[in-house]
Amino acid sequence: MDTVTGLLIVTMAVLTLARAWAGAPLNNVVVLAEGSYSLVLLASLGLARRSRSLVLSAWVLVIGLLLTILVAAYQAGGLNAPVLVALPFVPMLAALLLGRRFLPILTVLVISLLLGLYGLQYQGLIEPQPLDEETRSLCQFIMVLLIVWLCTWLGYYCDRQNDQMYEQLSLWAHTDGLTGVANRRFFDERLTQEWLRNQRVRRPLALLLVDIDHFKRYNDSYGHVEGDRCLRAIAQTLFMHCRRSGELVARYGGEEFALILPNVDLPEAAAIADSLRLKIEKLHAAGHPDLQERVTVSIGFSSMVPHEFTPQERFVVQADQALYRAKRSGRNQSVGAVGPSGRVNATS
Ligand code: GH3
Ligand code: MG
Ligand code: MG
Repeated sequence: MDTVTGLLIVTMAVLTLARAWAGAPLNNVVVLAEGSYSLVLLASLGLARRSRSLVLSAWVLVIGLLLTILVAAYQAGGLNAPVLVALPFVPMLAALLLGRRFLPILTVLVISLLLGLYGLQYQGLIEPQPLDEETRSLCQFIMVLLIVWLCTWLGYYCDRQNDQMYEQLSLWAHTDGLTGVANRRFFDERLTQEWLRNQRVRRPLALLLVDIDHFKRYNDSYGHVEGDRCLRAIAQTLFMHCRRSGELVARYGGEEFALILPNVDLPEAAAIADSLRLKIEKLHAAGHPDLQERVTVSIGFSSMVPHEFTPQERFVVQADQALYRAKRSGRNQSVGAVGPSGRVNATS
């Protein structure tokens, strides 16, 4: 249950008990109204949670309000002040919850209802009747509860919409539009996070830079649309590998991807890099529909236990230099960063 709903129901119960304690009669009508209000509130929130778009729940709310007003009009015998005040809220609420396209329909509906009621009253079919004390206080009570209910629901609805919008925006802000993997901004953020985290836990962190070989030639031969499909296929293959928590694949640049692999040392990074390289090389032979010919990649990788006096850039520069060496040595190979001993950790 929503905290606000819970608070409202408890407040209502406390107020009623306080009224009874102060000597006001706790009649059945008040208890019934309060109980049904709580039920309606809970049902509406339940519906709002279950319905993905909230539209169904909003319709229930709008139609519920309309019916309540009509019942009040019938009880009071036609066009009296509460009905005249409350009816215009229906299209306003609908416009807020359901969007403007329903506004003309609901405005016409409300005007027709008002005219209908006026007509019935004019014909003498319904007579305005004075309300007794108890019914009048019940009407006031229901009106106040209805307004509180609407405000709560509206607040809840706006919160939900805001949350969804925020989630969507942050997804867009972190995702590369073409390939669907993380973008460069997210990569930079995550690399810093992982660098600091692995520094604390004193565990190795690996970085793989993957560059498609002769991609310009591929674009020139098959066009940019095919080039894009190839980029997506490679991104997907790399993404399939990053399953462990903290692992990330990002589009680093045009036809370059980067993988952050926490808790992976240099030998393990070498094994992963070579298995990825082989997997990509075999994609076309395996009949991948998005590749027009065999595509290969060169991979530069580095791994180190981050230290507070080691600049993070050095880590990236090492992987970048390794990638450069992989290209210079003939492409389609994975090359590791130069270790402290000066030895190049390479596989090809
Ligand atoms: P190398 O093996 O040295 O990496 O050669 P290369 O041709 O892959 O490298 P180069 O830097 O000369 O060319 C990269 C190409 O990647 C050029 C550019 O048209 C292409 N490219 C970059 N981004 C995109 C993209 O989003 N879509 C497509 N289709 N092509 C892209
Ligand atoms: Mg490149
Ligand atoms: Mg390239």
